[in-house]
Amino acid sequence: LASVSASELDSSTDPSEGDRIAEDPISYFTRLNRKVNTAKEQGVYPFEPEISAHDGVWVQCEGKRMLMLASYEYLGLLGHDELDRAAEAAILDFGTGHHGSRLLTGTTSNHCDLEFRLAHWMRADDAIVFSSGYVANLATISALVGPGDYIVGDNLNHASIVDGCRMSGAEFKEFKHNDMDELVSLLLESGGRRTLVVVDAIFSMEGDIVDLPSVIEICKKNKALLMVDEAHSMGVLGKTGAGIQEHFGLAADDIDIKMGTLSKSLAGSGGFVAANSQIITYLRHHARGYIFSGALPSVYANVAIAALEVLRREPSRVEQIWKNVEYYHAGLKRLGFDTGASETPIVPIMTRTNDVTMAFTQLCRSEGLLVVPVCYPAVPMDSPRLRTCITSTHQQSDLDFALDVLARAGRQCGIIH
Ligand code: PMP
Repeated sequence: LASVSASELDSSTDPSEGDRIAEDPISYFTRLNRKVNTAKEQGVYPFEPEISAHDGVWVQCEGKRMLMLASYEYLGLLGHDELDRAAEAAILDFGTGHHGSRLLTGTTSNHCDLEFRLAHWMRADDAIVFSSGYVANLATISALVGPGDYIVGDNLNHASIVDGCRMSGAEFKEFKHNDMDELVSLLLESGGRRTLVVVDAIFSMEGDIVDLPSVIEICKKNKALLMVDEAHSMGVLGKTGAGIQEHFGLAADDIDIKMGTLSKSLAGSGGFVAANSQIITYLRHHARGYIFSGALPSVYANVAIAALEVLRREPSRVEQIWKNVEYYHAGLKRLGFDTGASETPIVPIMTRTNDVTMAFTQLCRSEGLLVVPVCYPAVPMDSPRLRTCITSTHQQSDLDFALDVLARAGRQCGIIH
């Protein structure tokens, strides 16, 4: 099972300059793809498992019924009747696509409605919606700061944040994960430049929560603008699921820029930023991913509006996810798994080596548990893992099934005894 490891799947092997110039493009890329192609031929390629149907947390995947234990769909809204009907209504009103860029002919009434609701939900002045969370981070960060400015970010921030920071042209430094002393010392190097500090609220590979009260205090002292990515905290943190601000009981203006996605808890697609209305106005006219790309299809604006409405009516979904998290965490701990610093529905299971990660993944899947391996470059080279995710609609029997499979596979791979 473990004959093809994740490192072997890594196609980033850099050929020499001479090879690049002399080789024809197809054989060049075939050579780079060699390990991926071999894994596919051997039937052990672990990525892009093909899902053909889903029924709540159970999916039909590659000919087998499997329990989904790797989805970001935290509130169980995927396939919810009200969301499906909202999508149908938008298609009837506006069609399947968009009519152009938001600034020109792409803005529909439901974009404006959604932005108003998101701003209200995030306790901000205004909001702007992008075609994805990835684009929201890229476009926003690269518009807010540029050459001559300074950015400091946590070294485990999501790739879309990192890409936005690099794209901006500002000087970009990273502090060790959640290390507030290092954040302070990096800010001392700002030399009076305009400075942006950017962090995830819940870290997507670790499942831990940023020490935001400390970050806020440090930003205020150093006059730095603060941006927080709430992709995994919206719908999850806080009593009503309003995110990290509600979780820590922060003031509405403690976070300057709140970024979120419509693709996780809200079971749709798209991204957004909520902030002071002058910042949002500026982004509408300077964020290139907003200006030079088609609008978010209005279908997804309607889906997000419907999802927010369900969440407003049913905050018990948030309560349920935390009951599930507690049950699942306790089960894994009892079995002896190492789940790192996780304290949320994102629960990594540390596997020590890439080979074990792949074998563990295959064993779980063969028993009907859909989990995903995460290796370098998504996480540091020395900490590969299985990343599991809990939703509010996992039943206790589902979690028992998952724990059972993980226990058997974990023992077989030597991760637990
Ligand atoms: N930020 C974080 C923390 C994420 O985990 C992700 C997606 N996994 C994104 C941003 C990008 O969001 P989207 O999938 O909507 O592009």
